[in-house]
Amino acid sequence: MPFGWTANPYRGCEMGCRYCYARYTHEFLGHNDPATFERRVYVKRTDASSLRRDLVRASKSGLLVALGTATDPYQPVEGRFEVTRRLLEAAREVPGLRLSITTKSTLVSRDAHLLGELARRGELSVNFSIVTLDGALARTLEPRAPRPDLRFSAMQTLAAAGVETRLFIMPVLPLLTDGEENLKSLLGAARAAGAALAESNVLFLRSGTRETFFAFLRAEFPRLVPEYERLYARGAYAPASYVAEIEARVRRLGAAAGFPTRRRSDRPLDTPRPRQLSLIW
Ligand code: SF4
Repeated sequence: MPFGWTANPYRGCEMGCRYCYARYTHEFLGHNDPATFERRVYVKRTDASSLRRDLVRASKSGLLVALGTATDPYQPVEGRFEVTRRLLEAAREVPGLRLSITTKSTLVSRDAHLLGELARRGELSVNFSIVTLDGALARTLEPRAPRPDLRFSAMQTLAAAGVETRLFIMPVLPLLTDGEENLKSLLGAARAAGAALAESNVLFLRSGTRETFFAFLRAEFPRLVPEYERLYARGAYAPASYVAEIEARVRRLGAAAGFPTRRRSDRPLDTPRPRQLSLIW
């Protein structure tokens, strides 16, 4: 993974995206029903001193700290518990920290001022995960995530606060969001909202997610099931030929929109073994 440290203030995620790859992580908590991932969210308790100690270690290592690699740090529960906010406040005290945040939430704009400060003191990027501008499709795919247009507004707010923002088209969903028009509209909107870069990644269907996603397809898009069965017949990854075709499409459309694009796997690799920051729970 292209980062050295990870911090996930919550386990489980209320936004309930049908394709969420992190559903399996609830199995470690003894929840074998993948739906529990979005119904029971665990809030980690922050221990300020150990958090600061680990952030200092992360800063000294020079490696990137990725916030929100498994669950969304700005999911609705953050509005009440503010664990992400406290983590960022601790990060403000640690010079030279390299930080990357990934979210689908507009709640991130609540912290625009704080994020602007962090950007001035160290390295920070905020990555907005947006897979379509089609509000109805987004509601079906990501039932409790904010509307895509509102996410682009939040991107604009952060860019205005001096924060580097990026568009993450993750995942690209075969036959649902991989079309030329959809990708073009996302890249154009990101450019207009001040994004510095776009990254994409084709859907990954690991066990836990696979069952949930196919049940969703059978209910909402039954005509697509045979093609998905073909694409994912050999496991969690789509065939290399399909992935290459989508990467080329995103690269071409990104260049036309006027900014660089890259695959997720093209990100510089800091270390092969991410470490989890201490958020006691
Ligand atoms: S917002 Fe992210 S973590 Fe939450 S359900 Fe969607 S994909 Fe999973």
